[in-house]
Amino acid sequence: MILNIILPIISVVIGFAIVLLFKPKQNRNLKLLLAFSGAFLLSITVFSFLPEVYKTNNSNIGLFIMVGILLQIILEFFSQGAEHGHVHLDKNTVTFPWLLFISLSIHSVLEGIPIHGHHSLIYGIIIHKLPVAIILATFFVASKMSKSKTFLFLLLFALMTPLGVFLSTNIAILETYFQEISAVVIGIFLHISTTILFESNEGHKFNITKLLTIVAAIILAYFI
Ligand SMILES: [Zn+2]
Ligand SMILES: [Zn+2]
Repeated sequence: MILNIILPIISVVIGFAIVLLFKPKQNRNLKLLLAFSGAFLLSITVFSFLPEVYKTNNSNIGLFIMVGILLQIILEFFSQGAEHGHVHLDKNTVTFPWLLFISLSIHSVLEGIPIHGHHSLIYGIIIHKLPVAIILATFFVASKMSKSKTFLFLLLFALMTPLGVFLSTNIAILETYFQEISAVVIGIFLHISTTILFESNEGHKFNITKLLTIVAAIILAYFI
């Protein structure tokens, strides 16, 4: 339980530290990390999360998965894809990006809710969070936004998934609709992970490193 709270925070802290220490650009390694995270999250979803939720014999489960896909599409109108790893804000911005923040928060709180009921899910989430944290931190550090706003944004971002973990075990209604919410999160993951894989495949060029990275993520997720 305590690990489910701490690991997502550590993932964002590591992402922030990588940006401060190494100042990575939108480079090859980051793209590979993103491809790895997408393939890993998709595999965890398909191998264990999805079958576990279908086992519950709720005939409407598929409907909730589609709701999750739609919800993520709507959230991305506002976040412009931050959940799957790119930022489209103006670098000269000085105001706090509320729309980005709110849509990212809804996404992050929701993904925290099913963690405690599905054992390997936490790994999929922290690996998916790492490149997102790196990309967000890179943007904010390079932007004209003040250091305190940058820090506040990343701190709150780091706390959202743990908030979901906390709420899921402390709010009765979330316990009652646990499988339905889990199905919505499956839809969210199917959408972001397939988008990451789609976007990582620029121009359909054959890239052996990327392909091997994706295969490694699938194998690792299978055995975890
Ligand atoms: Zn995108
Ligand atoms: Zn997420």
